[in-house]
Amino acid sequence: MRVKAAGHNSSVNVIQKNLNVVAIRNTMKAFCPLCLKDKLYYRKVWDLSIYTRCYIHNCILLSSCAICGRRITITDIINDLCKCGCKLSSISTVAMSAITFAKKEKGIFHEKSANP
Ligand SMILES: [Zn+2]
Ligand SMILES: [Zn+2]
Repeated sequence: MRVKAAGHNSSVNVIQKNLNVVAIRNTMKAFCPLCLKDKLYYRKVWDLSIYTRCYIHNCILLSSCAICGRRITITDIINDLCKCGCKLSSISTVAMSAITFAKKEKGIFHEKSANP
């Protein structure tokens, strides 16, 4: 009787199982426009609801189109195209600077102030 070498390709399944333990973004997908610009594919980590910030670019993940405000799906992300015709990877410059600006307004950035 031949022993079947099963389970050798199970590493992917293990990762998948671990991912399922953590909260997965079911309703809302998020993406980093800068990562998308870098290489056009859907990062698995974007599925995690705890993953709200890109660790590479240190920017907040977007879950909706900056132009029309529509919720972004995986299909939109891998096509780099929103239904409104907006290129998702090009959102970065506009939206990111807006977010950065908002954070500066709230004083989240720890810049040395010129206060006497
Ligand atoms: Zn990124
Ligand atoms: Zn749009």
